[in-house]
Amino acid sequence: MQSKTLEISGLVIRYDRAGSEWLVEQNGHIVERLPPGPAGKEAAVEEAIKLAAPALYQMARYMALKNPVLRSRLWKAAQLAANGHVLPPRPGNLVQEVSQVLSATDEAILYSIQVRDCHLCNCEDYQFEKAPRLASGQKYCKHILAYVLDKRRRQLAAVQPMEEPVYA
Ligand SMILES: [Zn+2]
Repeated sequence: MQSKTLEISGLVIRYDRAGSEWLVEQNGHIVERLPPGPAGKEAAVEEAIKLAAPALYQMARYMALKNPVLRSRLWKAAQLAANGHVLPPRPGNLVQEVSQVLSATDEAILYSIQVRDCHLCNCEDYQFEKAPRLASGQKYCKHILAYVLDKRRRQLAAVQPMEEPVYA
């Protein structure tokens, strides 16, 4: 039985039971091998993001080192951003909506990111107070982090054009 695979911008992450290792594959070729267990899986996700979207990787890594409490959500957020899940707001109807973020698990679900005095999200993680709150008062679920990472990536790209690898 093959375990569930993850896909990040064309790269595939899967656990190989026979070899007891996490694999990162591109076009059917193995590009990274990581040891079994949750730490190996996390490292595989980080490596895939590093290959697929270096700018996102740098930002997520920096923010995770600065705010360790956000670490697991940051890498999920980087996956969302790398997979193009951060979408523009709905036109016209909600002046405070800045983005819609497509759910990682159910593509029928869109979360609405709004900005009032802080960023708001209508997901359960944010609503039920599980998302970590930083000293600034801002709570961060993975959708808000995905929006923040994506916005920052666009700003950086506008200032200083970055070469990102192109995958067919
Ligand atoms: Zn959220």
